[in-house]
Amino acid sequence: MSDNKIIDLQKAKDERTPHLSGKARCLTCHYDFVAVMPVGCQTVTCSKCGHDAHMLGEVVTNGDQWRCTSCRWFLFRVDRHSIYCPKCGQYQRGF
Ligand SMILES: [Zn+2]
Ligand SMILES: [Zn+2]
Repeated sequence: MSDNKIIDLQKAKDERTPHLSGKARCLTCHYDFVAVMPVGCQTVTCSKCGHDAHMLGEVVTNGDQWRCTSCRWFLFRVDRHSIYCPKCGQYQRGF
């Protein structure tokens, strides 16, 4: 007995594309919702009225999230040496 499986190539490609998520607000109807869209997109379609919506603030990608190797903080700064944790000052190594 064969296992006939239909693969949606576009869906498989979309699932491998890096995405981000965060809160978004529609500029037309002011509806707030959680949006998921490819990394680099500036707008997303409002799920209520279909017009453009924009992210409200910080976004998170669907990749593994790096945490400070010393204090486990998750936001970083970059200077001319490397990436460092603004909470404890530890330069980050190993990613
Ligand atoms: Zn809307
Ligand atoms: Zn730290």
